[in-house]
Order: sequence, then structure tokens, then C-alpha cells
Amino acid sequence: MELYLPKSLVESPWAIYLADKAIKKARLCVGRPDRVILPQGCLDQQMYYRLMNEAALNGLRCEVRATVPEATTAFMAFADAEPLELQLPPGLCDCHAHTQFAYCGRGIDLLDAAALSQAVGVQTQCFTEHAFALYFGSDALKFKWQNDEAEVARAWADPNHVRMKPYRELIAAVRPLLGDRVRFGLEVDLLKDGKFCLAPEDYEGWDYLIGAVHEIADVDIKTISDAELEKKWLRDVETLLAQPIRILAHPFRYFPWYKRPVPRHLYKPVAKLLKQAGVAAEINHHKNAFELDFFVECLSEGVQLSLGTDAHVTRQAGDLWPHLQTLEALGLDTAEKRAAHVLSL
Ligand SMILES: [Zn+2]
Ligand SMILES: [Zn+2]
Repeated sequence: MELYLPKSLVESPWAIYLADKAIKKARLCVGRPDRVILPQGCLDQQMYYRLMNEAALNGLRCEVRATVPEATTAFMAFADAEPLELQLPPGLCDCHAHTQFAYCGRGIDLLDAAALSQAVGVQTQCFTEHAFALYFGSDALKFKWQNDEAEVARAWADPNHVRMKPYRELIAAVRPLLGDRVRFGLEVDLLKDGKFCLAPEDYEGWDYLIGAVHEIADVDIKTISDAELEKKWLRDVETLLAQPIRILAHPFRYFPWYKRPVPRHLYKPVAKLLKQAGVAAEINHHKNAFELDFFVECLSEGVQLSLGTDAHVTRQAGDLWPHLQTLEALGLDTAEKRAAHVLSL
């Protein structure tokens, strides 16, 4: 399959990002393109190189041709002769994305990501930075702070709460600029003994919080049995659900990330816990093996679903096509059905 990028797309200010989105959507909905075809006569050399670079990031080569199908908007590409719509249907919210404060970010810029997601049709874009990335140093991804009370006490005693205050200040500055369609929160983990990794003063000021189990403080993953691990994971999920969170991020991701079998027998119990707590279950395709049956259980229990790109790079903003496919697989294939079951902010 050849992926054509029409003149209106390559001349748009979003050309680079739209090229990436066209490649991703083609892969998802049609199949892997063989090459990317650019129109002749409308590209300056720099843009040509940048688009070539973007295709190369996806492992594809570019070719310039005299005949490329024309489109009426910048948000359309063609997979062979078939149009590929790059604008999302209305009403979708991205409830989970990162910012330049994330240590795991790879070049995401809050303002660019907010503008890109608006351009592709996201209704409300929410940024939810890792609280641990704001409190702790650049080795925070090793999660040693989870068991280090002194390190936590130091971060919370710091007048700026290390990088929490700069994050809050950036948000306060951009809120009037971005208006209501951009929201701000935090993605929060547990410390040891089930304590929430949030300083008392930091509970306030957010549109909402999401909870996540990335690591379990008292687990030695090298030695723990599957059964024991499931127990401790479920304990942490229950503990998180007692906190004021609106969404449980990437619910079962812990297991595939540690190459452990996903405890499918816990789908129903976890769906029931979410329902009791009034917390939404997040559909998150960021590097995740996907557990469709869990979301079937969530729907049957009446749990709300939320969509999260978990964007760590600006170009990932607005990448909700895999989520839409998942919603379709769950039978939520119209705006009305989605409105009844998917969290909207
Ligand atoms: Zn996460
Ligand atoms: Zn995240």
C-alpha cells in the first residue's frame, strides 16, 4: 500500500505531525504502507527533508510524484485510493498525557501538544504529570523513593516541593491562555504501607487525579510467586481506590510489563471495585498489551471508561484512533453510545 500525503496536508503547519498520524492510522486500519508519496512542486527542500525524516522514524521511505490525490482539508491522507480521515469524531477526551516535567517524556511540550490535540479534534485535553517526577530527582523511575521515607520527607519539606511548584506555576500561567478545553491533574502512585504519594498541600488545585500502580513497594519481583504478586497488586488497587482519584490508569499493565501472566480471574472483582469507588477504567494503548475482556466486564458492571493517550512525545497528542477501535470492539460505535459510557471532561 502506498500512503499519499496531499498538497493540503504537506502545506499545513501541522504537516510533520499529520504525516506521523497518517502513517499510524494507515497501519492500524489498512496495513503497513510500503512508502510515503509526497506531491511534486509544493515542498521546499527543508519541509521535504523533515517529512522524509518523519517517514524514516516510522521505518518508511519517501518518494515524490507528480500525481497525488487532492484533498479538501489538511486532515486527510490516502491509503492507495482510499481516503484516510485524520480528524477525530467529536466528543472524545484525552484524560492522560504527560508534559516536559516527565522524566520518561521524550520531547513533549505542553503547549504544542495541546494545540495539536485541538487541531485533530480532541474535545478536552488533560495533562496528568507523574507526582513522583515532580517530587524526586531524575532517577525517580527507579522507584527507590517508594521505600525511602527520608527522601519523601525531604521533598515535602522543600518550599517548592522540588518541581511541584514550577509545574503548578506553569499551569497557572497557561490556564487562561488555553481555556476550559485543557485540564490539569496528576498521576499518583502509592508509597510503602499504602500511603498516597501526595503531600497534604498538594491534594488541592487539580481538575482531577488519576491513580496508577507502576511498582509495588514490598514486592521483590525476582522472587515473588504469581499468586502472592496478584494479592499485593490487588491490595494496592484497593488502596488507590480509597484515594480521591477519578481514573485508574492502565489497570492491568503491571503484569505484562513484568512478564507475568495477567490474572484474568480478577477482571470482574476489579470492575466491581471500580464501580463501588465510582472510578473510571482507563483505555490506554501506550506500550500496552491489551485486555479487551476486562473492559467488557467494566461495561457490564456499569463502570465508566476513560481514554488516555499517555502521550510522552508531542506527536502522540491526539492519538485516539486505537482507543476508538477498542470502543468499537466493545460495541460503542456511535457518539451516543460513547457519551453514555466514556468519561467526558
Ligand atoms: Zn502510568
Ligand atoms: Zn502516564
